[in-house]
Amino acid sequence: MTRRRLVLVGGGHAHLEVLRAASRSVFGAEVVLVSPSPLQLYSGRMPAHLRGRISAAALSIELDPLCRAAGVRFVEASVSRVEADARGGVVMTTAGEFAADVISLDVGASVAGLDTPGVAEHVFSTRPAELWSALVARVDALVVERGRQAVSCCVVGAGVGGIEIALALHSRVTAAKRVAEVALVDAAPRPLASWDDGASERVLRLLNERGIAVHANTSVARVAADVVELEDGRRLRADVTVWTTGAAPHKWLRQSPLALDEDGWLRVDATLRAVDGRAVLGAGDCIALEGAPWLPRSGVYAVRAAPVLAHNLRVAVEGAGQLDEFRPSRRSLALVDTADGRAIAHWGRFTAGGRWAWWLKHVIDGRYVRGYHRLYARIGTT
Ligand SMILES: Cc1cc2nc3c(=O)[nH]c(=O)nc-3n(C[C@H](O)[C@H](O)[C@H](O)COP(=O)(O)OP(=O)(O)OC[C@H]3O[C@@H](n4cnc5c(N)ncnc54)[C@H](O)[C@@H]3O)c2cc1C
Repeated sequence: MTRRRLVLVGGGHAHLEVLRAASRSVFGAEVVLVSPSPLQLYSGRMPAHLRGRISAAALSIELDPLCRAAGVRFVEASVSRVEADARGGVVMTTAGEFAADVISLDVGASVAGLDTPGVAEHVFSTRPAELWSALVARVDALVVERGRQAVSCCVVGAGVGGIEIALALHSRVTAAKRVAEVALVDAAPRPLASWDDGASERVLRLLNERGIAVHANTSVARVAADVVELEDGRRLRADVTVWTTGAAPHKWLRQSPLALDEDGWLRVDATLRAVDGRAVLGAGDCIALEGAPWLPRSGVYAVRAAPVLAHNLRVAVEGAGQLDEFRPSRRSLALVDTADGRAIAHWGRFTAGGRWAWWLKHVIDGRYVRGYHRLYARIGTT
């Protein structure tokens, strides 16, 4: 009898946990992971890396040794289409096609607004994560090139990621004894508009103290090599523009014949299976969970879904056992790195900040990444 095949698409947070589960107890199937980069970069640590506090290695998880530790085949390729019915499907990639009995998607998201004129040519987008090292290199080059002139940076999108990046860029440039001119642009009336007023005002005060100019209630009309033009006609000088406008589904996912919602996210039920019965499961940013339209696209929820996905994939490929359900709680702790050795902690309506919050973030995030480093080091596959 031929072995069943599970194809994992994307090396995201939930699939890392699937690999860990497989390293503990091998799946009764051939498992293949397809992802475009040999590294999975942990976004929660990106701002600390951008400001020079931690090395690139401290936010990188190597997929190949992790796969070897889990008895999984790693294929470095991009997926361009997924087709499936109830019995299986095919995953089309830049390295060829893979037939599968079960397909799992943990491919994260792209960034909204990439079709704005000039964006494709002139911005550093926060997705894919492989662009982060180019951003760091560009800022360091500007620090040298600009000399006594200010280094101007424009960050588009004032969610948690955008705020952290604006503060980290400011910190990196001023640490090099250069003048930083940082602007933050958002269509919402205030930064962190989805948080309560108190938390949002606290962040706004902090941005003002650092001299970061906040342009709210406006959006970007076009981007050129050294200027960002706003809808209201204002022009912001920008040696470097970072685009972090929130999650949008990958174009190839939107074009795949799967159960998608109107935006193009994969619709899954509480067991993380596609709602139409195709042999596809998913977790992380790329899903729309039935009955939970409030579910944020954040790493926290990808990690929370991971054990359920790992268990249910095993049940799906081995054909035995009960499926678990993912019932996420609405509350999660957010820790915003303020690039000064402190962080702002937000939980429900509670907001506080200080060095303790940064250490808490540093410890939680560091433990997460090191857990995977230890896993492949212990198995001795590097
Ligand atoms: C700067 C920044 C800071 C953030 N900080 C936090 C934080 O502190 N806490 C938090 O909870 N969230 C944070 N987020 C959000 C968080 O990064 C995402 O919600 C999270 O990464 C989603 O996890 P995921 O598993 O869905 O996908 P990802 O972690 O994005 O992984 C997706 C995987 O799919 C792969 N992939 C992409 N395209 C393809 C393709 N075509 N074919 C095959 N594979 C593909 C990618 O290479 C990657 O391996 C931050 C985001 C940014 C940008």
